[in-house]
Order: sequence, then C-alpha cells, then structure tokens
Amino acid sequence: MEKEITLGDKTFTPFISKEKIDKQISRVASEINRDYQGKKPLLVGILNGSILFFSDLLKKIDIECEVAFLRVSSYKGTETSGNVKKVLGLDKEIENSDVIIVEDIVDTGITLENILEDLSSNNPKSLKVATLLFKPKAYTKNYPIDYVGFEVGNEFLVGFGLDYNEIGRNLDELYIIKEQTMLNIILFGPPGAGKGTQSELIQEKFNLTHLSTGDMFRFHMKNDTELGKKAKEYMEAGNLVPDQLVIDMIDNKLSESHDTGGFIFDGFPRTPDQATALDELLAKKGWEIAKMVSLEVEEDELVKRLLLRGKDSGRKDDSDESIIRNRMAVYNKETAPLKDFYANQGKHIGVDGIGSIEEINGRINEAIS
Ligand code: AMP
Repeated sequence: MEKEITLGDKTFTPFISKEKIDKQISRVASEINRDYQGKKPLLVGILNGSILFFSDLLKKIDIECEVAFLRVSSYKGTETSGNVKKVLGLDKEIENSDVIIVEDIVDTGITLENILEDLSSNNPKSLKVATLLFKPKAYTKNYPIDYVGFEVGNEFLVGFGLDYNEIGRNLDELYIIKEQTMLNIILFGPPGAGKGTQSELIQEKFNLTHLSTGDMFRFHMKNDTELGKKAKEYMEAGNLVPDQLVIDMIDNKLSESHDTGGFIFDGFPRTPDQATALDELLAKKGWEIAKMVSLEVEEDELVKRLLLRGKDSGRKDDSDESIIRNRMAVYNKETAPLKDFYANQGKHIGVDGIGSIEEINGRINEAIS
C-alpha cells in the first residue's frame, strides 16, 4: 500500500488494502447470490459514498438484479452531523421488490434509520442492508445489518468512496485518520520505581491521560467486578494478570478516551505479547508510541520504598517482602526484556530514577521533549 496521504488539513495512513477489500466484497456478493437464488433483488446504492463498493459488488452478483440510487447527506467534516436530509428520492417503484440497501459505512445508524423508514413505507417485499464498513461501537440502532464487509472501530476513514470534506472518494483503498497531536509515552520500570508519582506530574505538563493498569485492576477489585474477581488472586501473589484481560481492558479505555493529547502507559505493557498488542491497538487508530522512558532504580532501594509505601497504602502486595521479591523476579523475567523491544524501534530511553521527585521529573521531561 501507498504511504501516508494528506487531504486538506488532515493526514491519513493506509488502513485496508485493495486486495483485502476485494476479498470481502467477493464474500458479501457470494452471500447475496446464495440468499437471493430465484429472486431478482433491487440493489439501492446510497450516494455518494457507496459508488465504488456498489460497482464492485454489482460486478460480482451473478443472479438477475436491478439497480437504483438514493442520495442523502449526513457528514460535514469528520463528525456525523446528526441530521440526515434526503436529497434525491428513489426513481423506481419498490413495492413487492426484494430491496438490498447498499451503504459504504454504517456508523451511528441515523442515516440508515431514515432510509429504512422511508423505504419500508413503500411496502417492499423484503428489505436488507449490505455495507462495506460497519462501526459496531458507534451503532445506536437495532436494525440488523445483514451483509458486512468489515467491522471497524470509531476512527474516521477515507477512500474507496468515503470522503473527507468531499475529497478522497477516488482512493482505491481505505485510509485512517492520523491524530498527529497524540503523544503516547510508556513510563517503564520495576515496581516502586516511581512511575505513578511521575505519571501524575507529566500528565499535567503534556496534557496526557494517565493509564495505570495496576490502578485499574485495584479499582475493579475494590468494586468487586467480574474483572476484579479474576485479577485478585494474581495480584495478591504478585503475579501478572493474564495478557488478554489486560489487553481488553486497555482496548476499552483507549476507545472511551476522547479529547486527550495522548496517553501515559504506566505498568503496561508488561510482556512481549502486551507490547505487540499495544502497537496493534494504537496502529488501528493511526497512533503509535513516541517513547518508552525507563526509570532505573536498584532492587534493594525498590524493596525499601515498597515496604514503606505498603505501610500507608495497605496494599497487600506492598506489605510482604516475599511478594515484593516475587514481583521483582516477574519483572526481571517477563517485563525487563521489553526495553529491547522498544530499543529496536529506537524508542527506549533510560532515566536515572534516584533523587528527589523534582529532579527525576526534570530528567523525564527532558527525555520526552
Ligand atoms: P502495579 O500497580 O503496576 O504494580 O500492578 C499491581 C499488580 O497488578 C501487578 O503485580 C499485576 O498483578 C497486576 N497488573 C498490573 N498491570 C499489569 C499488566 N500490564 N499485566 C499483567 N498484570 C498487571
């Protein structure tokens, strides 16, 4: 696929290649061919976005069918405007027809609801929906989406019929918006290195969102949620919670967080699988890790700090030296090798974690800037 592209004031990175698009359109077409054997469906393309999907899909339909078009407008910039206006009506009778609405993307479902209500009032025999892209997390309606090319996240996409302020429809593959202002930092280091304290300071300075997986799990444990119950036994023994639980938790958090200048990951990733998953989660949104800042502190100093912290916090895993030593062993075995993972990407930077909070903070700020 091509590299990044610029449309107006935004940059987009490659997201889905033409080969992958073609494969999924073939699959959708074969489902329609199978479901409409002996019928003559009417494919109703929703202009303008569906043009490329519509034409590729149509070429792969091998049963008799008819076509018609409907024009609506709902997007102004990168946010859905909410009000859907039907601009051009259908130029065909649909009473007693098997209608398949062909959409480029189903987002909140507001546009689709308008179309479905309008078309159903004309008494079609059946009414189904085929869409190249579906955003399940944004979808607020209950109408079933019968044929889906790809399920995607909430990010703004362009190409293959989809536009950004009316440009980009001609691109023959899909691109995802790149949030150029995102600054994503991993604050790395063993338990007790000061990641939590320093994260609080740098999140203010750089307008970032602090994501501490340890804090999130403690919140779940305190509230006795399902996730909290699952994590408890691992945490209290100073072992790692299974990767998938952590990755899903972070995935949800990233999708929930808006209007942020970026993230500080504290206590995550802790294993190579988590690091790979984080790169993938960020790439899906057009983001990446800028730097991994690693706080370096001797083990005996860490044990002293944690025992002291345990007295105030009452955290079980901070109050027992054997659990603390286990956490250090887990860190050295599973987590410390991640320095190489990020060093290979040219992103690792070591910072001396001994000194006053202000001194260490100064070093971190310098590393980030
Ligand atoms: P922390 O507050 O970062 O020291 O984390 C406390 C405990 O939460 C750890 O000892 C683990 O049991 C669990 N935990 C936190 N983050 C992760 C993670 N990324 N992967 C696995 N377990 C984690």
